[in-house]
Amino acid sequence: MRKVVVLGGGLAGLSAAIYLALKENQVILVEQEPTLGGKASEIVEDGFRFDTGPSVLTMPDVVTGIFQDAGYKCPISFEPLELLSRNIFSSGRVLDVYQDWEKTQEQLDPAEKVSFVQLLKEARKLYVGACETFVFGRAPGILSLFKYAIRYGFRSYPTMKLASLIRSFNPSPDLERIFLRFATYLGANPYLAPAILHNIAWVEFGQGTVFPRGGMYGLVRALEELAVNLRVDIRRSAEVTHLEINKGCISSVVADDQIKCDAVVSSLDIIRTYQLLGWRHRLEQARPSLSGLVVFLAVRGHNPLMSHHTISYPANYRSEFDSIQLGEWPEDPTLYIYLSCRGDSGDAPLGCENWFVMTNAPTVEHSIDEERQTRRVTQLLINRGFLEPEQIIWTKHLGPRHLARMAYRGSIYGNAPDSLLSTLRPNNRVPGISNLALAGGTVFPGGGVPLALLSGKEAARVIEVK
Ligand SMILES: Cc1cc2nc3c(=O)[nH]c(=O)nc-3n(C[C@H](O)[C@H](O)[C@H](O)COP(=O)(O)OP(=O)(O)OC[C@H]3O[C@@H](n4cnc5c(N)ncnc54)[C@H](O)[C@@H]3O)c2cc1C
Repeated sequence: MRKVVVLGGGLAGLSAAIYLALKENQVILVEQEPTLGGKASEIVEDGFRFDTGPSVLTMPDVVTGIFQDAGYKCPISFEPLELLSRNIFSSGRVLDVYQDWEKTQEQLDPAEKVSFVQLLKEARKLYVGACETFVFGRAPGILSLFKYAIRYGFRSYPTMKLASLIRSFNPSPDLERIFLRFATYLGANPYLAPAILHNIAWVEFGQGTVFPRGGMYGLVRALEELAVNLRVDIRRSAEVTHLEINKGCISSVVADDQIKCDAVVSSLDIIRTYQLLGWRHRLEQARPSLSGLVVFLAVRGHNPLMSHHTISYPANYRSEFDSIQLGEWPEDPTLYIYLSCRGDSGDAPLGCENWFVMTNAPTVEHSIDEERQTRRVTQLLINRGFLEPEQIIWTKHLGPRHLARMAYRGSIYGNAPDSLLSTLRPNNRVPGISNLALAGGTVFPGGGVPLALLSGKEAARVIEVK
């Protein structure tokens, strides 16, 4: 039986550990924190429960697929959301986007209706082209990239920016913002992102999103339980500090103690994995993707204007990204507000709500005063008329400083996908180390819950075929 050590107990590490255990390996998962989940953690206090990271779940089949592959019934029930997002603009306009396109279109003027449908069809076309090569299966090699280029090359607008593609459908400024914002799902500046990222709109608006009962952290709990059932040895509060190499192989993982091993899957940020090897990765020089600041508010009362997922846009969407580009906190950012208590009433005490308010943020070296930005975000909620000061029972925040514990510079999605080439995530193998495979949101197929889970599966496969 081979002994394989998995570094990191986030979603990718859990997925890798499960697939490795299914292949009869002895698996040890090493996590630096006392709890698993990584970016997908939770805060529980005074009867309030908050997910700390992901809140929008797409592609639930990827989650159920893991349980099926293990021969278990998926214990999580997924509630499809009819209302995908409520979009509130500085003009006061409220635009609800439903899974049912017709319901969305009822709120649009005739010109917007045309743009909306055309934008969705374009997103579907890009998604269908990209998913085979860039999402499912193996990291693309030269041959598959060549095939993709032959088949979809010009139809994927290789030299076009996302903003230009969206504008070519003559959307109203409100629709334009809704579609531009999807670039931030991969941590990109929407005004620099390549056109191919428009495919993300299809994943949310075309395929829909679900709410997992038990919140997003319920996924972590369920995967952890599955890993334990498969006899994965989980070691918490154990920070890996070094990987020992002997003749082109990792011979042991150094955490609290030295763990001798036959193979390693690292789900850490790729730059961190290279640092543990004593190497430097070229992406250290690349521009990082966006970081984020999440303000958690324990709120008294109920605001009917808020939906499960609400986005409040500022008057000037672009200036938010201009500030971040300069390494500054945006003064008037977009607020993404997630109320998991709308899906699971147990997440807040009776008569109260749990407000998770996320804004884009610069990476950690620029984000010196998170507390000041937290106060600014709280004030914006009041200024935009969403909350009265006396409704706020307490606030907490997690920002780039916290994220930097698990992500290089606190950037959520690795290097910024600012061009077609930089959207390609690094391969799951490490040249020169034959028994190491990489998983996690910074390598193929990429970040976000479903892709991070797929990366774990792929890393387990890569290690097996060596
Ligand atoms: C605020 C926020 C909102 C998000 N929203 C969404 C969303 O709505 N939908 C979506 O799909 N995705 C979202 N994401 C992205 C998604 O959460 C991530 O892509 C995904 O969780 C990444 O999982 P991972 O396992 O690759 O990385 P991580 O979760 O970072 O896991 C890495 C693990 O490794 C551990 N670790 C690091 N260094 C060491 C070490 N030296 N020794 C031992 N352990 C170590 C860390 O503690 C961590 O547990 C969001 C992320 C954030 C931060």
